[in-house]
Amino acid sequence: MAKIEQRDAKELEAGYSRVHRAYELGGILLTSSTLVWLCVRTAHAPTLSGWWVPLAMLLGMLFADLTSGVAHWAFDTWGNVDTPVVGRLAIRTFRHHHVDQKAITRHDFVETNGHNFALALLPASIGVWCVRPATATLSDVFVGMSLASATVFVALTSQIHKWAHMERPPRVVHWLQRAGLLLSPEHHAAHHAPPYTRSYCITVGWLNGPLRAFRVFEGLERLITACTGAIPREDDTGKAAAEAVARAAAEELEANRAAMLQPPAPPASSQASERQ
Ligand SMILES: [Zn+2]
Ligand SMILES: [Zn+2]
Repeated sequence: MAKIEQRDAKELEAGYSRVHRAYELGGILLTSSTLVWLCVRTAHAPTLSGWWVPLAMLLGMLFADLTSGVAHWAFDTWGNVDTPVVGRLAIRTFRHHHVDQKAITRHDFVETNGHNFALALLPASIGVWCVRPATATLSDVFVGMSLASATVFVALTSQIHKWAHMERPPRVVHWLQRAGLLLSPEHHAAHHAPPYTRSYCITVGWLNGPLRAFRVFEGLERLITACTGAIPREDDTGKAAAEAVARAAAEELEANRAAMLQPPAPPASSQASERQ
């Protein structure tokens, strides 16, 4: 594998500005109050019972896991710190995390979670719009509860990621990591290991297996490169390393496709009988 060009961690860390901090504080306040509003509206709507409630929680968690994977992949793979809007707000933190994994464990609550709280405003607002207490049906309530769960898990994804990098997370978190109900350090370690193209989901990590099995990100990268000429991860690892990884991924995709198109070999016994 070609040598990875390491970015300067100090320079990236210095990009955390007062404007960014204000954006994070605003995101936390706005999303928290919208989530409370959604919960109040849901409490005044018809009551959902039985297994629908845990199912709504599970759907919200899976939505957050998928969103974390797609956002993390996009910010890791494309653009740079000078990309308009998301460069300073998101890409800088992802670049920084790759050269200093432990920095996240030194960040306070606002710096760790502000950006994800801001993103979680979307599911919370859609939930408020869906659940109108006077006219809400049970399916509106189910959607509202799923979106409330999605809001909580999207908002806390960076905190969960931080716990996966901590030497000593809180005991209950450690137990949930062991039980596979939160992203574990062992599962997340695959993201920080060569070829640095795996395990982007960082809420529970359950969707990393299916996304890899179907080569979703590998296929998307190939498509985007074909359309734009951009090299995935060029800004993160340097051009030579990024090209080598992209070549290896393309070869693996081709091999996979060829294997899928290959008709299955007839069983050994029928081969023997054909020869007779
Ligand atoms: Zn990453
Ligand atoms: Zn990490």
